[in-house]
Amino acid sequence: MSGRLSGFSKLTIQQRLSQLEELGFLQSQDALFLKNGGNIPSELGEKFIENMIGYFQMPLGVAPHFKIDGKDYLIPMAVEETSIIAAAAKTAKWINESGFIETQQIGTDIIGQIQISKVQDLNKLKKIVSENQKTWIQSANEIVAPGLVRRGGGVRSMKLRTLARPDGNTMGILHVYLDPVDAMGANIINQVCEFLKLKVEAETHENVTMCILSNLVDSRLTRSKIILEKISSDLIDKICEASLFAELDPYRAATNNKGVMNGIDPILVATGNDWRAVEAGVHSYAAKDGRYSSITKWWRDGNNLVGQFEAPLVVGTVGGVTRLHPMAQLSMRILGVENASQLSRIAAAVGLTQNLGALRALTTVGIIEGHMKLHIKNLSLASGATEVETPILYQKLEAFLCREKRISLQNAVDILNEIREERANHSKNSNEKCH
Ligand code: NAD
Repeated sequence: MSGRLSGFSKLTIQQRLSQLEELGFLQSQDALFLKNGGNIPSELGEKFIENMIGYFQMPLGVAPHFKIDGKDYLIPMAVEETSIIAAAAKTAKWINESGFIETQQIGTDIIGQIQISKVQDLNKLKKIVSENQKTWIQSANEIVAPGLVRRGGGVRSMKLRTLARPDGNTMGILHVYLDPVDAMGANIINQVCEFLKLKVEAETHENVTMCILSNLVDSRLTRSKIILEKISSDLIDKICEASLFAELDPYRAATNNKGVMNGIDPILVATGNDWRAVEAGVHSYAAKDGRYSSITKWWRDGNNLVGQFEAPLVVGTVGGVTRLHPMAQLSMRILGVENASQLSRIAAAVGLTQNLGALRALTTVGIIEGHMKLHIKNLSLASGATEVETPILYQKLEAFLCREKRISLQNAVDILNEIREERANHSKNSNEKCH
């Protein structure tokens, strides 16, 4: 696939759509929908949220060159930040040339919490939970989640946790583990917990204070690994050093993890998934050892560089708006995903790829080179340059950046003013010559 899409970024939007259709990445009705502007009727949005007044449109792009677990993917990404798709595609190409990406899902169950704010009799609570959990699980599966059970999922187990309160009392938290199969599962697990609350209260005479899922889903993790073979030893050392920085320093970890989410969030948005839930899960898992740290790690293995991402990435290919939003369905078709595990593993692979691209740039040419070069496009637009002025301004801004190693909107405005002055002088002179 990689070769067939080379030069893709140089095409016009209409040409890109035609090429994707020819190569089979876009079905003809999807290509036509996008060629016609991809407009969605406001009646649909009205069904999603309260007080809808319009749509906030985000560019949808595709990142080529991804081979994950040996399979080629074209990655749809809905994102406004300039450099993300270019960096993803460039890094994926590099990985293709010098290594590979593999992924796995570890565990299947999401977590619901039933909280007993102040436990009155802990021993009795422990005993009753242990004696009754099997029947509770059975009735939750029969009454609340029979559809999920038919699909191979359902409530799997329960566990009682306790926390010491500042007032000396004990807080009890009953964790409910449920396999949501291809759904993210927030609504179904919340319903299961509400159902079990009644049983817990009736049997234990404790007071249940709240029921809600947890986004720290350490029982359903997604792992991606990148192995780069025989790249320069110097680069391996540099990337390992950058990894250590992010592992040790929360200030660096925050930015490292933001870079990882640069790869993940655009896929979640494009496929209609709840990116807030995933963000919460990833960042809380990044602090699992008691201090916020990097969600990725890179190390040397002989002549190879190995990187790993591991976090809860609970996504759905059904549920929420994933089946209702036409763009989400279109993105799923571009990806060719068959289940939630596959979607989650793709997101993990792209997140780790994005991290590798950032670390390579940061430890070699610096952030300015790639990021700011693309940012110049935004600066040209923001400065108010016309269609005729834009290519001249772009060239001058590139030269300015190369020379000064910095650039701002003010620079763009100043340079644009110079261009306008030059053009005015030029036309004055040629007018004088004519007369
Ligand atoms: P949902 O309520 O739409 O339920 C999924 C539906 O898909 C179920 O009715 C199920 O029967 C059906 N289904 C069909 N095929 C399936 C398959 N193969 N596997 C599993 N189910 C299948 O969606 P949900 O996933 O329960 O909840 C997701 C929504 O909840 C999102 O919109 C999210 O924003 C929201 N939410 C999130 C939080 C949180 O993260 N803290 C809290 C509340 C709500």
